[in-house]
Amino acid sequence: MYCRECGHELSDQVIDGRVRHVCPCCGYIDWDNWINAAVVVVPYNPQGEFLMVRLGGAEDGSLTCPGGFRELGETLPEAARRETLEETGHAVVDLELFKVYTWDAKRLLWVVYKARLGKGQFVANAETKELLFFSPDNPPPADELRGPLTERLIRDVLADDSAANDPD
Ligand SMILES: [Zn+2]
Repeated sequence: MYCRECGHELSDQVIDGRVRHVCPCCGYIDWDNWINAAVVVVPYNPQGEFLMVRLGGAEDGSLTCPGGFRELGETLPEAARRETLEETGHAVVDLELFKVYTWDAKRLLWVVYKARLGKGQFVANAETKELLFFSPDNPPPADELRGPLTERLIRDVLADDSAANDPD
């Protein structure tokens, strides 16, 4: 393993109780904490129901909330609006930070916003087959959720009192 700053070979050194790869030449420390940042949006309609997408493609049929990876140069809210538009055809407004999740095995960070669903029109596509609305009274089927992070998110969304945020 080589230093990303100066190219010298890294050596092992214990720092803060863990072995780190350290550059003996320039002092660079590889903290090994890189993570892929994704944004996820929980968009609410005026009835207080939240939107989920039924995926097509490789994860055919499973349910999750719209979202995806942030591109470099985007703010997180920009990424959230772009991904929601791409997957649902709808704008989202009044983004509000809800929760942040990490999943080490996938080196994944989820920054989750709640939002109000804005204007738009959905057209089924390869990535998204269907839009569905759910609420605490009508929760999504547990066995159709996409994976552990979606399960955690939906549990938190259903438990959250402020879910049906009255719009202004
Ligand atoms: Zn170096």
